[in-house]
Amino acid sequence: MAKDLTALISQVVAEAEQQGLWPAGLAVAVPGLIGRDGRTVVRAPNLDWHDTDFAALLPDELAPAVDNEANFGALAELWLGEGTPRDFLHVSAEIGIGAAVVVDGRLLRGTRGFAGELGHVPVEPEGPACACGGRGCLEQYAGEEAVLRAAGLEPGEGRVGLLATRAEAGDEGVRRALSDAGTALGIALTGAVNLLDPETVVLGGALAALAPWLLPSLEAELARRTAGPACPVSVSRFGPEGPLLGAAHAVVRAVLDDPAAVAERA
Ligand SMILES: [Zn+2]
Repeated sequence: MAKDLTALISQVVAEAEQQGLWPAGLAVAVPGLIGRDGRTVVRAPNLDWHDTDFAALLPDELAPAVDNEANFGALAELWLGEGTPRDFLHVSAEIGIGAAVVVDGRLLRGTRGFAGELGHVPVEPEGPACACGGRGCLEQYAGEEAVLRAAGLEPGEGRVGLLATRAEAGDEGVRRALSDAGTALGIALTGAVNLLDPETVVLGGALAALAPWLLPSLEAELARRTAGPACPVSVSRFGPEGPLLGAAHAVVRAVLDDPAAVAERA
């Protein structure tokens, strides 16, 4: 892992320098639980990493920052989205399902930094076993692998695009799998909406491309189960680029907040 990372970072820095750019910092979006120290990957079940001082593997001179990819996705929405409210839930999916809670324009991180693990909220108490140690988690119904399995497709690269293409073409099996995933998302989100009363729920990451087939059942569950008026659901225009944009803008914002610190590293 360390060798691949070092090679990737050197390549990115070299490409930037060829364009006459100087890297002001480095931010890495990780699909897993990140400690509040902003450097430790406490657990990333889908990558099989745990208790790894991830920032120690990154070049110190770039002042690396490590955060959960769902958090970076939500920050992109907050900073760059059009008309994004200051209280919202951002739900995204890549390998797993992640969520971030933004309250009054700030990320709600929780005591240990683990807030927003919507993918491990139980949907069926006795459902299938999950890598987190629980059973019947949302990820087992609406995670990429679960949806592909339900649609009769093998997991692999670029599969989200294939799901969208088949759904678009009217494939009933794929549409049913996506509709069931929307129902599971709606059940898990009802808990979050009832608890936090956000102004909106934003679907980002891979979920954005699948929204046309997820939304009807998702919104029906939310409307049926939410204690107050149903919370509106919108779709991120950043899609899978969200976490990258959030990470890049976190670096830019750090420079604007403290230009002297960056000047010292130059
Ligand atoms: Zn789980």
